[in-house]
Amino acid sequence: MLEELKAQVCAANLALHAAGLAILTWGNASSIDRDEGFVVIKPSGVPYEGLCPEQMVVVDLDGNVVEGNLRASSDALTHLVLYRELESIGGVAHTHSIYASSWAQACRSIPCYGTTHADHFRGPVPVTEQLTPTALEGDYEVEIGEAIVRAMQGIDPGEIPGILVASHGPFTWGESAEQAAQHSIIVEQIARMAALTEGLAPTAGPISGQLRDKHFLRKHGAEAYYGQMQ
Ligand SMILES: [Zn+2]
Repeated sequence: MLEELKAQVCAANLALHAAGLAILTWGNASSIDRDEGFVVIKPSGVPYEGLCPEQMVVVDLDGNVVEGNLRASSDALTHLVLYRELESIGGVAHTHSIYASSWAQACRSIPCYGTTHADHFRGPVPVTEQLTPTALEGDYEVEIGEAIVRAMQGIDPGEIPGILVASHGPFTWGESAEQAAQHSIIVEQIARMAALTEGLAPTAGPISGQLRDKHFLRKHGAEAYYGQMQ
């Protein structure tokens, strides 16, 4: 079942690895079939070398395995919270990429210092609050998802397609697994640029709202004009 989606999810996982964002068995990408209510995700602990679509695991929105011989990624429950609560998204990716995770470990949102950032995020990349001791004793992966959802309150996930989980790393999303993986690549690039910007100019401020919106809106929304028109 969902063979096309399995191929897409496998390709997105391999893209994270090829971009150097997910080494060893770290990182995972998934996608949802909203009509079926099923999510396809990378299996847990399987290395990227030789990863193939048949190994992808199909789960329902409660985390029950619907198809697959392997266990789903241990982060699956976080992905499922995001699919349940952010109803416009079609794919999720998670990595421990170096620069984005460093900002997460600093528990800092990434300011919008330039147009590369503004082309893809219409504002800072947010950071979640730390999980409470009670949350850490609870259903850990679900609590991470809920911390993300709380931090995204009032924010359009189409305008801010990713977040940093405090002390951990980035989760990104998009219309598809491919787009979610692309946003992981973008978050890593803008995290790196922001760190270098602060190194060169510790008092640098964010770009103006006008310049930020100019860049974001020429690529996204009804008035977009960047790239080839469909
Ligand atoms: Zn992680």
